[in-house]
Amino acid sequence: MRILVTGGAGFIGSHLCDYFLARGEDVIAVDNFLTGSPDNIAHLQHHPRFKFMRQDVTDYIRVEGYLDAVLHFASPASPKAYITFPIQTLKVGALGTHKACGLARAKGARFLLASTSEVYGDPLVHPQREDYWGNVNPIGPRGVYDEAKRFAEAMTLAYARAHNLETRIVRIFNTYGPRNAIDDGRVVPNFIGQAIRGEALTVHGDGKQTRSFCYVSDLVEGIARLLASDERTPVNLGNPNEMTVLQFAEKINAFTGNKAGIIFQPRGVDDPNRRCPDISKAKRVLNWEPRVSLDEGLEKTVEYFKKKIVG
Ligand code: NAD
Ligand code: UDP
Repeated sequence: MRILVTGGAGFIGSHLCDYFLARGEDVIAVDNFLTGSPDNIAHLQHHPRFKFMRQDVTDYIRVEGYLDAVLHFASPASPKAYITFPIQTLKVGALGTHKACGLARAKGARFLLASTSEVYGDPLVHPQREDYWGNVNPIGPRGVYDEAKRFAEAMTLAYARAHNLETRIVRIFNTYGPRNAIDDGRVVPNFIGQAIRGEALTVHGDGKQTRSFCYVSDLVEGIARLLASDERTPVNLGNPNEMTVLQFAEKINAFTGNKAGIIFQPRGVDDPNRRCPDISKAKRVLNWEPRVSLDEGLEKTVEYFKKKIVG
C-alpha cells in the first residue's frame, strides 16, 4: 500500500508513519511544522519507502502516482496550541479536510479522519458513546477545535455519501507517549516535564475533572484496524481507565519520586468535567482494546522526556 499521512511530523502522525513502514508499506508524510517537528521524523530521512512533503494542507495537495489511503491527522491538538492558532485550527479542520478528502477521491483511496473526544464538548452523558451528539460551546475558546472537528466529520460523511468515498472516522481520546511535544501544554507532558525538573505540578482548578490516558502504540494499532475495517461511522479509541487530574498528578509525583508537590492554578474556560470513552464499539467491530498499562506507558514516556530535558 501507499499511504499519505497529513500531520505526519506530529506526535501521532509520526508513530503512524513508523507503524506502516514497519509493515512494509510506502508512506508519504505531509506537514507544515505548525506544531510538529522535523525531529519526529529525522530517523526516517533516508528510509527508502518514506517521503516527506513540507506543505500546508489547506492548500491544494499535489501527489504523483497512486495512493491507497489518506490519513488526515494535521491539526493543532492541544488546548494551548489551538487557542494560540485559532484560525489555523478552523482552516485545517475545514479547508484541510476538504483538500484531503479531494485527494483521496482523486486517487480512489480510502480516507481516515482523526477526530476527537472534543466533539462531545463538556459531556452530559458518561461514559461517552459514539451516538451521543455532544455539548459544545461554539463561541468559547475551545470552539475553534471542537467545531472544526465536527465540521470535518460532516465533510467526511458528505464525501462518503456524495462521492462514495470509502471513509473512516476515529474519535481519539487523550493519548500520550514519546514525541508528545513537551511544551504543548497538555497534562501528560506538562506534569512529566515539571516532575523531571523537580517543580510542583500545576493542577488546574481543584483537579476533580477526569481524563483517561491511552498509550500511543495502542491507539496506532486501533487506527490500523479501523482503516482495514468496514466501519463507516465514528469509532471511539481511548483508554477507559478514568481518573481525576489530581489523582494523575499524585501518580506522576510518586512515579518519578518528585517531592515538590502540587500547586493549584485557575482552570481553562469550558474545560470538560468528565471524560471517559465507552469503547464497546471498538471492541465489537475492531476486536480492539488497550493493552499497555499506565505504568508501562509512563515508563517509556518519562524516559523519552528525560532524554529531551536532561540529555
Ligand atoms: P501534533 O500537534 O503533534 O500533530 C499535528 C501535526 O499537524 C503537527 O505536526 C502539525 O505541524 C501538523 N499541522 C497542523 N496544521 C497543519 C497544516 N495546515 N498543514 C500541514 N500540517 C499541519 O498533535 P497530535 O497529538 O499528534 O494530534 C494528531 C491528530 O490527532 C490531530 O488531528 C488531533 O486533533 C488528533 N487528536 C489527538 C489527540 C491526542 O490526545 N494526542 C486526541 C484527540 C485527537
Ligand atoms: N491540566 C492541569 N494541569 C496542566 C495541564 C492540564 O490540571 O498543567 C488539566 C486540564 O485543565 C484538563 C486536563 O488536565 O482538565 C487535561 O488537559 P489537556 O490539556 O491534556 O487536554 P484536554 O483533555 O483538556 O483536551
